[in-house]
Amino acid sequence: MMNVVLLGAPGAGKGTQAATLTKQLGVAHVASGDLFRRALSEQTELGLLAKSYMEKGELVPDEVTIDMVLERIRQPDCAAGVLFDGFPRTLSQAKALDERLAGEGKTIDKAIYIEVPEEALVKRLSGRWICRDCQTPYHEVSSPPKVPGRCDVCGGELYQRADDTEETVRERLKVFFSQTLPIIDYYENQGKLLRVDGDRDIDEVSSSISRLLQTERA
Ligand code: ADP
Ligand code: AMP
Repeated sequence: MMNVVLLGAPGAGKGTQAATLTKQLGVAHVASGDLFRRALSEQTELGLLAKSYMEKGELVPDEVTIDMVLERIRQPDCAAGVLFDGFPRTLSQAKALDERLAGEGKTIDKAIYIEVPEEALVKRLSGRWICRDCQTPYHEVSSPPKVPGRCDVCGGELYQRADDTEETVRERLKVFFSQTLPIIDYYENQGKLLRVDGDRDIDEVSSSISRLLQTERA
């Protein structure tokens, strides 16, 4: 049973690493951005509310986001542990998550911070393609699909996110540095933070994360 938070700026590789890490750890993948995008494609009230914030690259208000994620982790697939991706993004979200887990006798075991320089992030996001069905991320240069426009995992159609334009990306990065960076200290002060150099090949980053977690668990 392990609950792990993946931290990193937009484009750091959280979704990419989550694909292998969830299998290794045997835990559910809970990505707040994916939950919002699904709500939006289903045109639910939550999706429509989130849309205006997502388009601008701003954070969806804490209350709405916290309710959505805490509801998601009630589902049975989360009983064996969760890999959180894109949540928490503010101190209030981190504290709300801790309170909820504590109430169930659980805790966040580790927070993995994938560090990538800002210019690399912009390049990654401008070349990112995502599967409409299973959300697997690809990159037109560093991680292309085997068949252009199709997902290797499920055959779904690939698309580019409306918020992956350079202007919105710059805003999302600003939001990350002002609102999300404080939670790095929050986990560091609890002795839970593991830092990983994310500016390397996908496989090298994966191996580093596995090694770090193994050392910590030994
Ligand atoms: P996040 O979930 O943190 O926003 P993603 O996992 O979607 O980031 O990755 C952003 C983009 O960068 C994608 O196009 C992905 O294929 C690519 N990418 C991820 N990890 C790496 C890496 N280590 N090196 C080069 N490109 C990467
Ligand atoms: P992501 O897929 O993680 O890049 O998230 C896409 C967008 O969804 C963000 O730019 C926010 O508008 C919104 N979002 C995702 N997760 C959160 C969160 N934890 N708190 C607030 N907004 C979020």
